[in-house]
Amino acid sequence: MASNRTFTMIKPDAFEAGNSGAILKMIEEAGFKIVAMKATKLTPELAGKFYEVHQERPFYADLCKYMSSGPIIAAILEKDNAVEDFRALIGATNPANAAEGTIRKIFAKSIEANAVHGSDSDENAAIEGSFYFSQTERVL
Ligand code: GDP
Repeated sequence: MASNRTFTMIKPDAFEAGNSGAILKMIEEAGFKIVAMKATKLTPELAGKFYEVHQERPFYADLCKYMSSGPIIAAILEKDNAVEDFRALIGATNPANAAEGTIRKIFAKSIEANAVHGSDSDENAAIEGSFYFSQTERVL
Protein backbone atom coordinates (compact mmCIF):
# COMPACT_ATOMS: atom_id res chain seq x y z
CA MET A 1 0.00 0.00 0.00
CA ALA A 2 1.30 3.48 -0.86
CA SER A 3 2.28 5.59 2.13
CA ASN A 4 0.51 8.91 2.64
CA ARG A 5 3.65 10.91 3.41
CA THR A 6 6.48 12.38 1.42
CA PHE A 7 9.39 14.70 2.10
CA THR A 8 10.34 17.88 0.24
CA MET A 9 12.94 20.62 0.26
CA ILE A 10 12.62 24.02 -1.33
CA LYS A 11 16.18 24.24 -2.63
CA PRO A 12 18.59 27.22 -2.32
CA ASP A 13 17.84 28.66 -5.78
CA ALA A 14 14.09 28.89 -5.12
CA PHE A 15 14.55 30.14 -1.54
CA GLU A 16 17.01 32.84 -2.69
CA ALA A 17 14.69 33.92 -5.50
CA GLY A 18 11.84 34.46 -3.02
CA ASN A 19 9.72 31.67 -4.52
CA SER A 20 9.13 29.69 -1.30
CA GLY A 21 5.66 31.16 -0.70
CA ALA A 22 4.49 30.57 -4.26
CA ILE A 23 5.77 26.98 -4.18
CA LEU A 24 4.14 26.23 -0.82
CA LYS A 25 0.88 27.67 -2.19
CA MET A 26 1.02 25.26 -5.15
CA ILE A 27 1.75 22.38 -2.76
CA GLU A 28 -1.21 23.20 -0.50
CA GLU A 29 -3.55 23.84 -3.42
CA ALA A 30 -2.64 20.39 -4.76
CA GLY A 31 -4.05 18.92 -1.53
CA PHE A 32 -0.89 18.29 0.52
CA LYS A 33 -1.02 18.99 4.25
CA ILE A 34 2.14 20.23 6.00
CA VAL A 35 3.06 17.84 8.83
CA ALA A 36 6.41 19.45 9.72
CA MET A 37 8.34 22.36 8.25
CA LYS A 38 11.48 24.39 8.90
CA ALA A 39 13.87 26.82 7.26
CA THR A 40 17.42 25.60 7.73
CA LYS A 41 20.82 25.49 6.05
CA LEU A 42 22.79 22.34 5.30
CA THR A 43 26.53 22.10 5.86
CA PRO A 44 28.43 20.46 2.97
CA GLU A 45 28.81 17.38 5.21
CA LEU A 46 25.06 17.10 5.83
CA ALA A 47 24.29 17.66 2.14
CA GLY A 48 26.79 14.89 1.36
CA LYS A 49 25.03 12.57 3.77
CA PHE A 50 21.56 13.38 2.44
CA TYR A 51 22.67 12.67 -1.15
CA GLU A 52 24.92 9.71 -0.22
CA VAL A 53 23.18 7.46 -2.78
CA HIS A 54 24.56 9.71 -5.53
CA GLN A 55 28.16 9.67 -4.36
CA GLU A 56 29.40 7.78 -7.43
CA ARG A 57 27.72 10.18 -9.85
CA PRO A 58 29.82 12.87 -11.58
CA PHE A 59 27.68 15.73 -10.27
CA TYR A 60 27.85 14.69 -6.57
CA ALA A 61 30.46 17.28 -5.47
CA ASP A 62 28.66 20.10 -7.28
CA LEU A 63 25.32 18.99 -5.85
CA CYS A 64 26.65 19.02 -2.26
CA LYS A 65 28.17 22.46 -2.79
CA TYR A 66 24.95 23.81 -4.29
CA MET A 67 22.67 22.30 -1.61
CA SER A 68 24.77 23.90 1.14
CA SER A 69 25.07 27.27 -0.63
CA GLY A 70 22.08 28.89 1.07
CA PRO A 71 18.96 28.34 3.16
CA ILE A 72 16.36 25.74 2.28
CA ILE A 73 12.90 24.84 3.59
CA ALA A 74 12.41 21.20 4.56
CA ALA A 75 8.93 19.76 5.03
CA ILE A 76 7.03 16.53 5.54
CA LEU A 77 3.80 16.45 3.52
CA GLU A 78 0.70 14.30 3.80
CA LYS A 79 -1.79 13.25 1.13
CA ASP A 80 -3.13 9.99 -0.25
CA ASN A 81 -0.54 8.52 -2.64
CA ALA A 82 1.85 11.29 -1.52
CA VAL A 83 5.12 10.17 -3.13
CA GLU A 84 3.74 9.59 -6.61
CA ASP A 85 1.40 12.60 -6.61
CA PHE A 86 4.18 14.90 -5.39
CA ARG A 87 6.60 13.69 -8.09
CA ALA A 88 3.89 14.51 -10.64
CA LEU A 89 3.43 17.99 -9.12
CA ILE A 90 7.15 18.83 -9.24
CA GLY A 91 7.88 17.41 -12.72
CA ALA A 92 11.03 15.94 -14.28
CA THR A 93 14.51 16.46 -12.76
CA ASN A 94 15.59 18.53 -15.75
CA PRO A 95 13.20 21.50 -16.08
CA ALA A 96 13.69 21.35 -19.85
CA ASN A 97 11.82 18.01 -19.74
CA ALA A 98 9.28 18.96 -17.05
CA ALA A 99 5.61 19.14 -18.00
CA GLU A 100 3.89 22.52 -18.27
CA GLY A 101 2.45 23.72 -14.97
CA THR A 102 4.80 21.66 -12.79
CA ILE A 103 6.81 23.35 -10.04
CA ARG A 104 10.14 22.67 -11.70
CA LYS A 105 8.88 23.90 -15.09
CA ILE A 106 7.79 27.18 -13.48
CA PHE A 107 10.61 27.77 -10.96
CA ALA A 108 13.71 25.65 -11.71
CA LYS A 109 16.82 27.34 -13.09
CA SER A 110 18.72 24.22 -14.26
CA ILE A 111 18.94 20.43 -13.89
CA GLU A 112 20.89 21.02 -10.65
CA ALA A 113 19.18 24.15 -9.30
CA ASN A 114 15.77 22.61 -9.85
CA ALA A 115 13.76 24.40 -7.14
CA VAL A 116 12.45 21.42 -5.14
CA HIS A 117 13.21 17.94 -3.91
CA GLY A 118 10.62 15.17 -3.74
CA SER A 119 11.23 11.69 -2.30
CA ASP A 120 11.26 8.91 -4.88
CA SER A 121 9.82 6.11 -2.73
CA ASP A 122 7.88 5.55 0.49
CA GLU A 123 11.02 4.12 2.08
CA ASN A 124 13.11 7.17 1.20
CA ALA A 125 10.31 9.53 2.29
CA ALA A 126 10.49 8.03 5.79
CA ILE A 127 14.32 8.09 5.87
CA GLU A 128 14.51 11.68 4.58
CA GLY A 129 11.81 12.96 6.94
CA SER A 130 13.68 11.45 9.89
CA PHE A 131 16.92 13.03 8.64
CA TYR A 132 15.46 16.49 9.34
CA PHE A 133 12.72 16.09 11.94
CA SER A 134 12.35 14.46 15.33
CA GLN A 135 8.90 13.22 16.39
CA THR A 136 8.37 16.31 18.55
CA GLU A 137 8.92 18.63 15.60
CA ARG A 138 5.98 17.12 13.73
CA VAL A 139 2.70 18.89 14.35
CA LEU A 140 0.65 15.93 13.10
P1 GDP B 1 15.32 13.86 -8.55
O1 GDP B 1 14.85 12.62 -7.83
O2 GDP B 1 14.39 14.31 -9.63
O3 GDP B 1 15.65 15.00 -7.58
O4 GDP B 1 16.68 13.50 -9.30
P2 GDP B 1 17.94 12.61 -8.88
O5 GDP B 1 17.65 11.81 -7.63
O6 GDP B 1 18.37 11.86 -10.11
O7 GDP B 1 19.08 13.68 -8.56
C1 GDP B 1 19.13 14.37 -7.33
C2 GDP B 1 19.44 15.82 -7.60
O8 GDP B 1 20.75 15.91 -8.17
C3 GDP B 1 18.54 16.51 -8.63
O9 GDP B 1 17.33 16.96 -8.09
C4 GDP B 1 19.42 17.65 -9.08
O10 GDP B 1 19.46 18.72 -8.13
C5 GDP B 1 20.79 16.99 -9.12
N1 GDP B 1 21.10 16.41 -10.45
C6 GDP B 1 20.51 15.34 -11.06
N2 GDP B 1 21.05 15.07 -12.25
C7 GDP B 1 22.04 16.02 -12.42
C8 GDP B 1 22.98 16.27 -13.46
O11 GDP B 1 23.03 15.59 -14.50
N3 GDP B 1 23.85 17.33 -13.26
C9 GDP B 1 23.82 18.10 -12.13
N4 GDP B 1 24.70 19.12 -12.01
N5 GDP B 1 22.94 17.88 -11.13
C10 GDP B 1 22.05 16.86 -11.27
